[in-house]
Amino acid sequence: MIADCEMLGLDGGMRLRTTMDVLTPKIVDITAEGLSLSGNLTSEELGLTDADASIRDTVAVGLDLRAIERTIYVTGVMEGTAVHQCVRCLKDFDAPLAFSLRVVYEREVKAPVVAKQPDARKKKTQTLPDDGEEDQNDDLYYFSGDHLELAPMLREQLILAAPMHPLCSEECLGLCARCGKDLNEGPCRCREESTGSPFDVLRTMKDKLRGTGNR
Ligand SMILES: [Zn+2]
Ligand SMILES: [Zn+2]
Repeated sequence: MIADCEMLGLDGGMRLRTTMDVLTPKIVDITAEGLSLSGNLTSEELGLTDADASIRDTVAVGLDLRAIERTIYVTGVMEGTAVHQCVRCLKDFDAPLAFSLRVVYEREVKAPVVAKQPDARKKKTQTLPDDGEEDQNDDLYYFSGDHLELAPMLREQLILAAPMHPLCSEECLGLCARCGKDLNEGPCRCREESTGSPFDVLRTMKDKLRGTGNR
């Protein structure tokens, strides 16, 4: 099963499994040898709303799940096209989306308020098959029942991966603060009015100040 899934290219668009299987793998299928999952997921399947993050079409997701003792380690990649709104000109633009993720799932403990020992997870992390990034703090998620719910985690990882201040271009000129015109499309009238040097601005300010002082 593992070998078959691993052969799937991320961009191939092929699907061996239905999407529901990709998003809700059974715990019993996740072993120490690992379980590979891949699929193309829509915003809907990921539970993404427009307020979270926008994607074009689908996101290709490739995941590797590994159970060690009672902890499930998930590594993977997400690839697709994100739609961001430029913080300067407020226009939507497409940007390639590609990032890797590393998270940990532990079974939710319903036990009567036994405080989770902070050390417990650290110890387990050290038993993770070494790939040189042991000190990285993996995001922790919980599962209950007989399967994982991956959608909420994938949704969160997508949101975390989005830039805080998306720019359509480093050179984006943004909108005029006075008239709101998109300055990437050309200068606005406000600009033509004040094409002078900064000294002109200072001069007019001085004149104004003098004017009020004389009154
Ligand atoms: Zn812009
Ligand atoms: Zn303007």
